[in-house]
Amino acid sequence: MPGTGVFAEIIEGDVYKYYSDGEWKRSSSGKSVAIVNPTTRKTQYKVQACTQEEVNKTIEIAKFAQKSWAKTPLWKRAELLHKAAAILKEHKAPIAECLVKEIAKPAKDAVTEVVRSGDLVSYCAEEGVRILGEGKFLMSDSFPGNERTKYCLTSKIPLGVVLAIPPFNYPVNLAVSKIAPALIAGNSLVLKPPTQGAVSCLHMVHCFHLAGFPKGLISCVTGKGSEIGDFLTMHPGVNCISFTGGDTGVAISKKAGMIPLQMELGGKDACIVLEDADLDLVAANIVKGGFSYSGQRCTAVKVVLVMEAVADTLVEKVKAKVAKLTVGAPEDDCDITPVVSESSANYIEGLVMDAKQKGATFCQEYKRDGNLIWPLLLDNVRSDMRIAWEEPFGPVLPVIRITSVEEGIHHCNASNFGLQGCVFTRDINKAMLISDAMETGTVQINSAPARGPDHFPFQGLKDSGIGSQGITNSINMMTKIKSTVVNLPTPSYTMG
Ligand code: NAP
Repeated sequence: MPGTGVFAEIIEGDVYKYYSDGEWKRSSSGKSVAIVNPTTRKTQYKVQACTQEEVNKTIEIAKFAQKSWAKTPLWKRAELLHKAAAILKEHKAPIAECLVKEIAKPAKDAVTEVVRSGDLVSYCAEEGVRILGEGKFLMSDSFPGNERTKYCLTSKIPLGVVLAIPPFNYPVNLAVSKIAPALIAGNSLVLKPPTQGAVSCLHMVHCFHLAGFPKGLISCVTGKGSEIGDFLTMHPGVNCISFTGGDTGVAISKKAGMIPLQMELGGKDACIVLEDADLDLVAANIVKGGFSYSGQRCTAVKVVLVMEAVADTLVEKVKAKVAKLTVGAPEDDCDITPVVSESSANYIEGLVMDAKQKGATFCQEYKRDGNLIWPLLLDNVRSDMRIAWEEPFGPVLPVIRITSVEEGIHHCNASNFGLQGCVFTRDINKAMLISDAMETGTVQINSAPARGPDHFPFQGLKDSGIGSQGITNSINMMTKIKSTVVNLPTPSYTMG
């Protein structure tokens, strides 16, 4: 059970503590932030509302802790990460329970998220040992006008304090995808978890504590993003921000100082379906891609662009599969569970009503009970409908019928977003041409968009992000190149 056994020290009364300087602490604010269970719509947990002084102190300690961590041998950093990964997996059950209660993640998916996170931490430790153990050696005589009098040695050095801000939908996985690269590269890390998902994150952080990382190297400050977010992201002690979330990231990137940013933001992933596609495969991928975790995934299929000639058949196949989705509580492992908050549900409803008013075809009846919205496929969606462009982050999927491939590519590229996209066709040549034409960070051929496996590069164009994630890219992003140049008194050439 959460907050018991090895996790007993992270809670006092009914409020979870924050983690700083290697200790679990109560905030001097005396205030807490309530985490509302999306299913019951009642307060499930409470976390500390940290003050600005506590944030200051935490960042100061992180700065100090990083100095000695950078001097810790790489193999030892990796060893500790492997230990944390094992502890995380060992305690998957209570952490998964928090995910079920905080963000209504279906029970099985919640366990998968924790296990996947442990695997990510281990992989990151292994990858870090390889790529950080290597540098470059350059010689000056390759550049015109130079002789071989200079030897340049480059290595990757840490940035300092990394601030990690993950979103609610994968709070544990998207936190460790920032924590592990930061630590293996010799940085310290301050985590600001999403409010919905904060308690899952606190349990995860305790696994790093149990692994025995040095005091102050990892910390977790809780509080509403709207209250402490700006203070954190504009803090002069922060040397790098790794953020995953929605439009907030665009605002952060405008306010942050001259520091490296990794931004993984929203998406409106298009699924282009050609006449020659295997429609059973397409339907299966649309349902999995569009409705898994009730559509609350950055890489969910968010608009289907299907050639008119096969649209009727495809819509019928998708409808048949949607009818089989189970709807209900995350504890019962239903496919469709309540969306994260009432405001999210209201937003989704707004998109649905707009589409209704403008004449979309409802393949199912629109149904909502509290935060629970039944899966809905909207056919004959047109460009003047909000759902054609906006990210519902819910179980509602628009279908736009197209008469040419160019029309599909045009719709995809007219979006502000450019996270992922997919194309279904049996013609690999066409698939490649379409992939090249789509302005998105990744294109999947004959499969729904997906963030994993976690070592693949993952990036968005336009408003979908800055930089690239994926284990190797994240490690590199959290380092800087340092050169040392050896100057020789006379040219020196190695003989054969
Ligand atoms: P969000 O509202 O942008 O929140 C993300 C994080 O930012 C949360 O931890 C939030 O804390 C924090 N935050 C809020 N205001 C802040 C501020 N002023 N300064 C700093 N941090 C602040 O996003 P969400 O609703 O959690 O997640 C859904 C969005 O994430 C969708 O748009 C989805 O597409 C995107 N997403 C993208 C990816 C990707 O890799 N591209 C992956 C998953 C999700 P609080 O919870 O305390 O407000």
